[in-house]
Amino acid sequence: VEPDDLELFRASIRKVVERYWPTATCAGPDGTSGALVDLWREAATQGWFDLPHTDGLGPVLMVMGELGRVSCPLPVMDAFVARRLLSSARTARAEIDQLLTGIAAGTIRITVTPESADQRNTVTDAASEATHALILPPSSGTALRVAAVEGYDIEQGLAAPSWATLRLGRTVHRWEATPEALDDARALLRIGLAARAAGAAARTHELAVEHATIRIQFGRVIGSFQAVQQRAATLEISVTGSKYLLAEAGRHHDDGRGSWRLAAELATQHVVSNAPSVQVGAQHTLGAIGYFAEHAAPWLFRRVHADVARIGTYGLTAGTPADVLLETDTPLPRLSTSQDSSFADDVRAVIRQHQPAGERPLQASDAQPLVDAIAARGWFGMGWPAADGGRDAEPADLTAFHDELRYARSPIVVRQLAAVMLVGNAIVRFGTEEQRRAFLPKIASGDLRFCLGYSEPEAGSDLASLRTRAEHREGGWVINGQKMWTSRGNEASHVWLAARTDPDAVPRHAGISVFIVPMDTPGISVSPHTSLAGDISCTVYYDNVEVPDSALVGEVNDGWRVITHALAGERVVMGGIAVELQHQLDDLLSWARTEPVTTFGPRGSHQRSLLSRLVAELQATRVMLAAAITSTATGVGSRSLPAMVAVHSSELAEKFGEELIEILGPTALLSRPDVPGGGWFEAGLRSSLLYVIGGGTNDIQRGIIARGLGLPR
Ligand SMILES: Cc1cc2nc3c(=O)[nH]c(=O)nc-3n(C[C@H](O)[C@H](O)[C@H](O)COP(=O)(O)OP(=O)(O)OC[C@H]3O[C@@H](n4cnc5c(N)ncnc54)[C@H](O)[C@@H]3O)c2cc1C
Repeated sequence: VEPDDLELFRASIRKVVERYWPTATCAGPDGTSGALVDLWREAATQGWFDLPHTDGLGPVLMVMGELGRVSCPLPVMDAFVARRLLSSARTARAEIDQLLTGIAAGTIRITVTPESADQRNTVTDAASEATHALILPPSSGTALRVAAVEGYDIEQGLAAPSWATLRLGRTVHRWEATPEALDDARALLRIGLAARAAGAAARTHELAVEHATIRIQFGRVIGSFQAVQQRAATLEISVTGSKYLLAEAGRHHDDGRGSWRLAAELATQHVVSNAPSVQVGAQHTLGAIGYFAEHAAPWLFRRVHADVARIGTYGLTAGTPADVLLETDTPLPRLSTSQDSSFADDVRAVIRQHQPAGERPLQASDAQPLVDAIAARGWFGMGWPAADGGRDAEPADLTAFHDELRYARSPIVVRQLAAVMLVGNAIVRFGTEEQRRAFLPKIASGDLRFCLGYSEPEAGSDLASLRTRAEHREGGWVINGQKMWTSRGNEASHVWLAARTDPDAVPRHAGISVFIVPMDTPGISVSPHTSLAGDISCTVYYDNVEVPDSALVGEVNDGWRVITHALAGERVVMGGIAVELQHQLDDLLSWARTEPVTTFGPRGSHQRSLLSRLVAELQATRVMLAAAITSTATGVGSRSLPAMVAVHSSELAEKFGEELIEILGPTALLSRPDVPGGGWFEAGLRSSLLYVIGGGTNDIQRGIIARGLGLPR
């Protein structure tokens, strides 16, 4: 199904739902009478129970998500699973065809319930309207049956409409399914519940954001308070991660990829770990109004928690994502958007040939043969136009190029690639002819060693308040001031420097210009500091530094535009941390797979559950990053995505490092080549903070996301 068709389908689902189950309050005690059965009938007319079980998962997940938004228990996934299992039965075709036709037509209203041997697992949705039940065996069994529903006993509790235990009558059909098919069925039921819970949580978040734009306290709308903004941004990232992972799982299934089950489990895991906190976080913003029954939020609250709880009643024989990754050689699913790129193979081959293999972190000096090899192939700056020495490379090739270098942990990433993304791209866009000629070939050959002179003692997040002064004199500029944390300022040949050229400009950012200045210009002095990660950043003093007019990049007082353009490139470079984390995960798995129980304990252990959560978050970062790269390249999609990726991936890097300590103990903190990760785990933990702070702190990024949601400054 094409994305545009799916969106049309979504519009049609909303129309139907609006008519029969218009709000989540319909889930309440007074709202259900008759509504569910009417919706069931209409849904059958619309074909929701007839979606092809081979490639219809994407649409089914969409229906479930939309039902979640109004807290409606219509068991569309149950019908999807029942039809899939019935279709695989070999005997009694006439009887089966009758069941299949009845389910599709809505005359047989089927719900799924696990075998009741384990009493805690018997609760069912939509019992009041179901005519039939599919009874799934426990994980050791293979015998299935469809039985008529004779009645039901309401299970009072949090779920609304209430769960029930079915009273089953005559068995209509009995057959056997393979353990594999049953595991598939359980995985589908789990992701169906996850899609519905995610839909409910996302709807509460939407309502909270709307509320934050109109509710006034202390004379201001509450959405202007930092606490509310930061929370809304955090929830938006969780909601977006789940949404992309669910869609991704649908595509894997519907494209017939064997990876679909792990993709589905990663989406399910993400929802299980995120939807409840999204729900309660959104309710915090709604305050008291969201606590009373007239509001949708209490009914969405019940939906989220009920569905998440029920996911656990369908355990998979294959186990959790951690079990699958540890016990088999399955890799993390490739993204459905990633194309087979022979270019990626070429890059990998060149890296293998020219980068020294070894356990220790590579130094800049190790990288020269690779720099030369890449430069000889014209790959630095390949995204530039041909007139500037590039070849207008496709975004897919650019991404593959970055990813391969990242995965190889090449020092090239922070040096040559950053020069391309931060300086080269800005010169292509804003530079003079002379600057293009002077700098682009130097960047393309990998020779420009640049540093960024933005931050100052009193200008960090508030970059626009920078004070370093550039005054125009005959034929050039004189620069005075002090910059802080200038990374690699001690070894750079040039600084990309932001200075104030109009001290009276209003707003303040209107008086800033950018210069490119050789670091050996008289008047520049450098004082190095060693960071937690071991890198050098410098305090750089500018004392009557004279530069010619030709050092100015772009127009006078228009430096803010140059800076923000370069910052967008920096965020993409930063988001690449996802690839580094993937390498850490691969290291962890390749080491743990030999004896998974020794390291991770048996199935169900705390360590395995940490690992499942981490990989679900890692996959979320990967899908969001891919979407961010596409949206940056095409201009279509959420403009907040790069900020979301920056926040999510950097905080995941922190969490990753910390949880590896929980999993591995002190071993995670050793840097010997013979320990798991060979020292990269502890190095990753130390450098994770850089990603949260540098390039705009996560608090600032969350502010950007909040404004993308429509919350005011
Ligand atoms: C390893 C490293 C390398 C760096 N390299 C460079 C470099 O090469 N060149 C360069 O110019 N700079 C560099 N920086 C500096 C970096 O850009 C700044 O650290 C960053 O912009 C944050 O500024 P700050 O550290 O002064 O923190 P501050 O801005 O002082 O922030 C401190 C805290 O207050 C919060 N805060 C501030 N304002 C707000 C607000 N409006 N709303 C909510 N919270 C707020 C922040 O989120 C943070 O938690 C580097 C930093 C690091 C850590």
